[in-house]
Amino acid sequence: MAAIVTLGCKVNQFESEAIGETLEEMGWKVVPFAPGLDLTIVNTCVVTTRAEADSRRWIRRARRVNPRGLLLVIGCYPQIDLQSVITLGPDGVAGNQEKESIPDIIEEINQGKRPVIRVGDIMEAETPPALQATHFRRHTRAFLKIQDGCNARCSYCIVPLARGRSRSIPPSQILASLQSLSAAGYREVVLAGIHLGTYGLDLNHKTTLLDLLRHIEEEKSPARIRLSSLEPQEVIPELVHFISSSQKVCPHLHLPLQSGAEEILRRMNRPYTGEFFHDLVLQIYEEIPNVAIGVDVMVGFPGEDEKAFQKTYDLLEDLPISYLHVFPFSPRPLTMAARMNQQVEMRGRKERVKALRDLSREKRRDFYSRYINKTLSLLIEHRREEGILRGLSGNYIFCLLEGGDELMGKEVEVILKEVKGERGVGKLTQRL
Ligand code: SF4
Repeated sequence: MAAIVTLGCKVNQFESEAIGETLEEMGWKVVPFAPGLDLTIVNTCVVTTRAEADSRRWIRRARRVNPRGLLLVIGCYPQIDLQSVITLGPDGVAGNQEKESIPDIIEEINQGKRPVIRVGDIMEAETPPALQATHFRRHTRAFLKIQDGCNARCSYCIVPLARGRSRSIPPSQILASLQSLSAAGYREVVLAGIHLGTYGLDLNHKTTLLDLLRHIEEEKSPARIRLSSLEPQEVIPELVHFISSSQKVCPHLHLPLQSGAEEILRRMNRPYTGEFFHDLVLQIYEEIPNVAIGVDVMVGFPGEDEKAFQKTYDLLEDLPISYLHVFPFSPRPLTMAARMNQQVEMRGRKERVKALRDLSREKRRDFYSRYINKTLSLLIEHRREEGILRGLSGNYIFCLLEGGDELMGKEVEVILKEVKGERGVGKLTQRL
């Protein structure tokens, strides 16, 4: 029996599912992490200090709980700090590109080599690792990785060092994967990437995310296509216009703003201004009135004084956004920001995180309230308790409703009756 523990982003989740399928083809039974496993794979993350500490904790835990089983550590942590990973005593280690070689690594370990280490120079990778996932154990929604790596150099971000340069999966392969996911019954697919907006620019037959979406619109695919994060400067008017009339692409955009203050954005090496972001959100909103706009914000970046934070807060308070993801700045080794002066003390970071999380709750409640007594199409994705289900609308409204398990994975229509906390509560009107 084998288990894969996944930390971090949607791309990691996709890759873990793909590795799970490969293991199953090899005859392994893939189960949730528990005692008695013959193999544990920890798919790690280093995006923040905390994610890295969690990765280390899981590696130690996997060793402690299954002392006789094989332990493989893969992904971003070995890619960034191989020596630290080796000191934790794994039987095998794979970098991000070498995730496609897990069967060979297991084979070599079984032949008596230990530890087997496959971590190459990720900067030399020219294509994404060959990994395919066609079923998702814990999700009604599927993830499809269409792009890997990033060529930008935001001064706080360690990801390009762990993931390499931007590499895209050719459109034909993506369209084939969407067909399979549709045939397997998935109703929604989230297109994931590390820097999604640069999709296609590296391919021999250069293309763009917008062109890919135009193809998807015409081909067989799950009914709903959702985009993961897009950099603000990559949300071009043509893309907004396309989404406004698309039958498939959800009216939901997730935009990393990080800061609303010019001087901080400059220090972050982010190529836009707060004013640009402000205008962009209003334009999107005008063209797609039912859009959900989520925003990532980083607080406590070196040099962020009260005035700079207030600028960010005021900008967000003023905009018709739907929710925020708020992160305290986490200094990562090997990045410019970790060496910058004017680091903000931890207490200051925590207070700012709290202020923005409170604002996020307000924004979400306001956004949901606009749909009271309106009809929403939900994809039922979670059974909260006996007879209570949770569904998700195209514009990212999470809604509870009464219903039986036969509705799991199905699309239904509800009328939104009220907003409780950060959830809508709806009444089922019909199955679609
Ligand atoms: S765009 Fe910036 S934040 Fe995003 S992965 Fe690239 S370097 Fe990191």
